[in-house]
Amino acid sequence: MPGADKVLVTPKRFGNKWGYDLAVTDSRASVQDYLNALNRVIEEFPLSRGRKKVRACAGCDLCCAERAPLTWIDVLRLQEYLGFTDLSLQEVLDKVGYIVVDGPVVDIMLRRDSDERCIFFNRQNRLCTIYPARPLVCQTFICCPGTRRAAGVRETVVNCGEDELVRRWLMQAREKGEKPGIHEGHRPSPRLVDWPPNGFSGKKHYRQVLLKEICPPETWRQVYSPAN
Ligand code: SF4
Ligand code: SF4
Repeated sequence: MPGADKVLVTPKRFGNKWGYDLAVTDSRASVQDYLNALNRVIEEFPLSRGRKKVRACAGCDLCCAERAPLTWIDVLRLQEYLGFTDLSLQEVLDKVGYIVVDGPVVDIMLRRDSDERCIFFNRQNRLCTIYPARPLVCQTFICCPGTRRAAGVRETVVNCGEDELVRRWLMQAREKGEKPGIHEGHRPSPRLVDWPPNGFSGKKHYRQVLLKEICPPETWRQVYSPAN
């Protein structure tokens, strides 16, 4: 079917609230196909916003004050959007990220200010200042109900993307013969061997990352529903 959507995000009723379901109809579907489908539903359909009881997110800052893990491709997009292309990965993360290492566990998140809100949140008009380049976790979160398989795909994409970012960050430090720059450490002992390559490795755009390559078999089985 030429031009058919490879990912379908459909509004779904959960009691008196509107949430969504997700199905992948083409095994070549990419993360960008997923984002396009989700953004279309967010814009065109009044999904229920459970936390604020509103129909649209504009003017709400609740999720912008929460942990927002970054993916490898998020950082490439931010680097481009903010004009940081001459900076090293560590230098970019020192500006926009916050790296916490607890023993071998690494978490790389969006940087927040002392009021706990993201550094890219405009406190006056209460909008995102980098909306076209906002990270994947911001694009895919909406405080409405969703099916288990929709949540599974989101979790997979966010985790794989962050894992690849950690791998690149550790690799760059090793190549430079430096210690990786940590912003908060609790007996830190990160090891590159704990972050093997995954479906994000070697990719620079979300359109190059295939959902089939990153979804665990059980998630793929739940979500893949080929079009006839
Ligand atoms: S998704 Fe986030 S920004 Fe939108 S209404 Fe819910 S808490 Fe607020
Ligand atoms: S990048 Fe934008 S949408 Fe995401 S947390 Fe920051 S202000 Fe909110």
